[in-house]
Order: sequence, then C-alpha cells, then structure tokens
Amino acid sequence: MTIGKLKLDYPEWMPQDRPLLISGPCSAETEEQVLATAHGLKKAGNVDIFRAGIWKPRTRPNTFAGVGVVGLKWLQRVKKETGFLTAVEIANANHAYEALKHGIDVLWIGARTTVSPFAVQEIADALKGADIPVMVKNPINPDLQLWIGALERLNQAGITRLAAIHRGFSTTVTVPYRNQPKWRIPIELKRLIPEIPLICDPSHIAGKRELLEPVSQKALDLAMQGLMIETHPDPANALSDSAQQITPAELPKLIGSLTYRKPSGDSSAKANMLEVLRGEIDNLDQQLLEVLARRCQISTRIGEYKNNNNMTIFQVRRWEKVMENRIDDATGMGLSDKFVNEIFQAIHHHSIELQEKVMNLAKDGKSITSD
Ligand code: PEP
Ligand code: MN
Repeated sequence: MTIGKLKLDYPEWMPQDRPLLISGPCSAETEEQVLATAHGLKKAGNVDIFRAGIWKPRTRPNTFAGVGVVGLKWLQRVKKETGFLTAVEIANANHAYEALKHGIDVLWIGARTTVSPFAVQEIADALKGADIPVMVKNPINPDLQLWIGALERLNQAGITRLAAIHRGFSTTVTVPYRNQPKWRIPIELKRLIPEIPLICDPSHIAGKRELLEPVSQKALDLAMQGLMIETHPDPANALSDSAQQITPAELPKLIGSLTYRKPSGDSSAKANMLEVLRGEIDNLDQQLLEVLARRCQISTRIGEYKNNNNMTIFQVRRWEKVMENRIDDATGMGLSDKFVNEIFQAIHHHSIELQEKVMNLAKDGKSITSD
C-alpha cells in the first residue's frame, strides 16, 4: 500500500499566507454569463482560480447537462481578459483531451467520477505525460480508500501537482446540509497524506447560501487550505445548483466574515485538536442517530408482526432479558449501568409507542410500512 507515499509537488498557485480561493459558476451557461461572473470576481478581488462546469453530471436525464466544448472557448476568453487561471471538471478521457487542447490550467475530478476506479483510470491514462495539476473531489460515498485510490491512480500516471477537495457525502439521513460533511474523513486523508493541499467546497456541502459561512469557517478552523465557492450573476435563475450560488459581489462579504487562523502556533494547534475531537463526536452522534433510526424501523415491523399474530406489545420476559444482556455488555465496555439503563428505558418506551401506533393504524385498515 502506498498511502502517504505519493510523489507530490506543491501546486505553484497555492498561496502561502491565506486560503486559496476558487470561484465561478456551477455551470457555464452562456458566454455572457461566464464573462459577467469572471469580471465580477475580478472586481471583488482575492480569487485565484476561475471554475466553471461545462460537462455536468446530473442525477436525472433531461436536465441541463452542460454546454460542452464551446464552454472551453469562453474560459479561454476569461483567462485572456482577467488573467485568472481556469479550471474545469473532467469525467472521461475525451474531456481530458479537450481540456488539455484548450489550455485549461487546472482540472478537477467530480464526486460522481471519483467513485469509479474505471473512470479515474481512464482519465489518468489520458493525462499521462501532461503537465497539469488535478484536484480530486471526495467520492459521494464516505469511502476514504476510494478517494486515496483516485489520487494514487493519477500520481502513478505522473501527475504530481495534486489537491484534494472535500465536498461532503451523500446521505439518506435528514441533515441541514445537502451533503454531510463527515469532517473526520478529510482530516484522516490529511493525516495519511499531510503534503496534499486540502480544499473545501462549502457550496456542495451546504446546498444553500445561508450555510456557506459556517461551513467555510469550520473548514478554515480545521486548517483546510482553500475554498471553492460557486458564484453566478443571477443565482435564482441558474440552470444548476441555484440555491447554493451567490453573486460575485457577495463573495468578498462572505470571505471577509471568516476568521483565518494560522495552522501553526501552540494555541491554534490546541484549537485544532479540539476541532478534531468535536468532529469525532459529531460523526459518532450521526452514527448513533442512524442506528436509532434503523432500530425504530425494526420496532415498527415487530409491531406489525405482533398485530398479525394477535400478540401483546409488551412481552415482559423478553424485556427482562434485553435489559440484562445490555447491562452485561455495557459493563464489559466500561459503561455505567445507570447510564445504559436510562438510555434503554427511553428506547424501549419509544419502541412501545411505535408498536401502539402500528396497531392503531391497523385498526383503521392502514399500515406504516406499505402504502
Ligand atoms: C460541481 O463542482 O459543480 C460538481 C458537480 O460538484 P460535485 O462533483 O462535488 O458534485
Ligand atoms: Mn455545482
């Protein structure tokens, strides 16, 4: 395993004393929109790299899938008129050839592509011998190995200027975010490959403008080295990701509201450790909630079974046994029996409520699980 043994060169565009800022529209839609965004960002200041999606991986067909190769020409105009470095997402070998042919400065691999080793290998093969930096977004599922694997495939094809972009993870659990941050995963990536620049994409984590600020601040507090933030001259009418984009004029206000602390120094090292520990707590709480949600679903099914078989909800022998076993297991894990007793009383009480609900619905000829 070559984890942590990538041959990396630090990308020359990473600033030394402040976070890197990448901005631009989710999608290039028209030449006017791309240029208006770029000139707006130039005026706003602080942006290092201009991004635009021209091949868009959309969840459903018959939605706007990007303008394709013509958008690369608009990016050439952006570079000429503003001096920005340009970046696009590539998802296959043909995208890679076209982006190289049009002199795009930085490429990135999107979350839906990082999940596929075949696609990443195809891109890595297409980029062999090319002297271009590549940023790799985390896969949509929380699989650190897939993320590392994509970086390794590119590195083995000779790409040494690599960066990682944390854009959150797809989830079925209701959370305030569009993509759950699971901060522990990018932190672990950085622990394994400390030399890699780690950039956060608060736009795709947040999914809505209001959350951009707290997500960006958290990323900076975790010592992430850059932000990728989507901007559009008219976010409400954007053809993709309309709820999460802000105008170029709003960007400096957002960036100005953030506190940038240096990663070195005693006090911030301590603060970082606190953030790391809090990140672990957030992650564990999320897991607890996911397990509780699954447990409730099973209680509902048990309620249906008992109803169909005319059994009482409360089965005293079973409950005594559950409590005995749980307390035994908990003691073995060094947990206080009082604490575990309280938690399981609450869990059991709710399970009974759920089963009562099932039986009451069944009386009216309804069911929770099948409609
Ligand atoms: C994007 O950056 O517009 C994009 C499609 O992002 P992701 O791959 O993170 O979903
Ligand atoms: Mn987007």
